[in-house]
Amino acid sequence: MTLPVALYIVPTPIGNLQDLSPRAVEVLEQVALIACEDTRHSGKLLSHFGISTRTTALHDHNERARAQWVVEQLAAGQAIALISDAGTPLISDPGYHLVTHVRAQGYDVVPLPGPCAAITALSASGLPSDRFSFEGFLPAKEKARLDKLAEMKEDPRTLIFYESPHRIVYSLEAIAQVLGADRQIVMAREVTKTFETFLTGTAAEVLARVMADDNQQKGEIVLMCHGYRAAEGEEQIPAVAVTTLTLLCQELPLKKAAALAAQIHGLKKNALYKHGLEAGL
Ligand code: SAM
Repeated sequence: MTLPVALYIVPTPIGNLQDLSPRAVEVLEQVALIACEDTRHSGKLLSHFGISTRTTALHDHNERARAQWVVEQLAAGQAIALISDAGTPLISDPGYHLVTHVRAQGYDVVPLPGPCAAITALSASGLPSDRFSFEGFLPAKEKARLDKLAEMKEDPRTLIFYESPHRIVYSLEAIAQVLGADRQIVMAREVTKTFETFLTGTAAEVLARVMADDNQQKGEIVLMCHGYRAAEGEEQIPAVAVTTLTLLCQELPLKKAAALAAQIHGLKKNALYKHGLEAGL
């Protein structure tokens, strides 16, 4: 069966080669061309599966320039696959500009499901998975890293970060400092590989274990943090409600402003009134 002309987004294993799906193998065999983040790196995977399809490089530095070229190949009737070094393309990997451009030019983009470190790690973390926020890599510079975490401090969703081994200690320190030393976290390392490890505990506990054992500072890491939980008895007030309250307080007495903000956001007026008093509104 010939493959319909489209750009196929094909996830590849994040450690265990068995995780390349039979459908992924079939697509990679049948497309005219595979766009790879790194042709040498992916060459090993492709040869393992006996796939001899032609490859071309598509990475962060040439993606925009290559996007039109890919469209020309599609226009010429060639089906193309996009793969990255590991996992799902576009997830902290190249492909976003390509997909946007191909869609804008009216061609189909067909996704295949498959490995993704964030989702694989989350599924076994024991942290709430009903709502989560994937945040990619934290900034490398300390101030930017702390600022970024401060933005998420009161986010009730599970937070997922990718991290490199040489920055893991800095990131754990920053998480303990900004989100709190007692924030529950899970560090998933080398998922699907021989030394797969899940460390769980408070930020302070996980930091101590990682600092005490150099092996925990090796390999590939997904860091997950429990979302913000208001202290017992204290109602959590979303940032947007605080903004409303602050604005209303510029025109109205606190009591009235709290009642209106409570109505707008479906919160308890006493909690907003108390917050207003504490904040000196
Ligand atoms: N596109 C990939 C995906 O779908 O997961 C992610 C690519 S990103 C450049 C690479 C990062 O993903 C690593 O630095 C690490 O944080 C995470 N990662 C990849 N493979 C992993 C693994 N086997 N175990 C834990 N984390 C992994």
